[in-house]
Amino acid sequence: MEKLLRLIEPNSRSALVGRLVGTIGLIALANGVFFKLYGPPDPSNPLFHLLHAIVVGGPFAMFGLIILVYQARVQRKLSHLSRKDGLTGLNNRRTFMECTDRRREARAIGTLLLLDADHFKRINDSYGHQAGDICLQSIAETLRRNVRRDDVVGRIGGEEFAIFLCDTTVEQARIIGERLTKPISFHANESSTEANLSVTLSIGATENHPGLPLNKMLALADQALYQAKAEGRARMVVWDEQLPVH
Ligand code: GH3
Ligand code: MG
Ligand code: MG
Repeated sequence: MEKLLRLIEPNSRSALVGRLVGTIGLIALANGVFFKLYGPPDPSNPLFHLLHAIVVGGPFAMFGLIILVYQARVQRKLSHLSRKDGLTGLNNRRTFMECTDRRREARAIGTLLLLDADHFKRINDSYGHQAGDICLQSIAETLRRNVRRDDVVGRIGGEEFAIFLCDTTVEQARIIGERLTKPISFHANESSTEANLSVTLSIGATENHPGLPLNKMLALADQALYQAKAEGRARMVVWDEQLPVH
C-alpha cells in the first residue's frame, strides 16, 4: 500500500496538475471502453450500476486519495521544518526545550551541557561564511555521534549547542565533555576533500535540578560556559555556587 501511495503521490504542484488531467483522461477513456463493451446505459441491469460506479467513481476516489496523501506529505514536511535546524538537522531551540522538559519529567538524573564554538568568528572572517557553515555541520555530526538515542541534542543559537544527557551524573558527563573538547576537523569548502581546519568547543555543564525551570538551568550552564571561556577555552566547567556571576 505504502509503495502504491508513493507511486501516485505527486511531489510538486505541476505533478499534482498532471495527476488531475490524467485522472480526467482516465475517466473519459474508461467511459468509452465501458459503453463499447456494454452498449448504451441500461438502468434495469443492476450489474450496469455496479460497473458504472467502479469505472466512473474509481478514478474520483483515487484522485481524492492522492490529494489526502499530498496533504499529509506537505504537513510532514512543514512539521519537520518547524522542529529542526535547517543547517545541521539538529533539533532547534524550541524542540530541544520541549524534548528536554519531557526527559526531565520522566527521570531525575541527567546533565545539561551548553557548548559554544571557540573563536568561531575568526573562521568566518578568515575562510568565509561557507566554511563557517561546514564547521557547524561538522560540530553537529560530532555531537550526534557522541550521544545515545535517548539524549537530546539541539542547536540553540548561532554557534551554540546544547545536550541533555539522560541518566548521566556530572562525573559521567565529564568523560563525554573530555571527548567533545578535542579539536573537531572540517574542510574549508565543499570541493576540498582534506579536513584541514579544526575548531574546539567550550562547555558549561550543570546537573539536573528537578523543579528548576529549564531556562534557569541553561543560565547556570551559561555561567559555567563563561568560566570555561575565561580559563582558556576548549574545556568543560561544571557549575557550582562559587562561580562568579557575570
Ligand atoms: P568565543 O570563543 O568567545 O565564543 O568567540 P566567537 O568568535 O565564537 O563568538 P562571537 O559571538 O564573537 O561570534 C559568533 C559568530 O558566529 C558571529 C556570527 O556571525 C557567527 N554565526 C552565527 N550563526 C552562524 C551561521 O549559521 N553560519 C555562520 N557561518 N556563522 C554564524
Ligand atoms: Mg563562540
Ligand atoms: Mg556564542
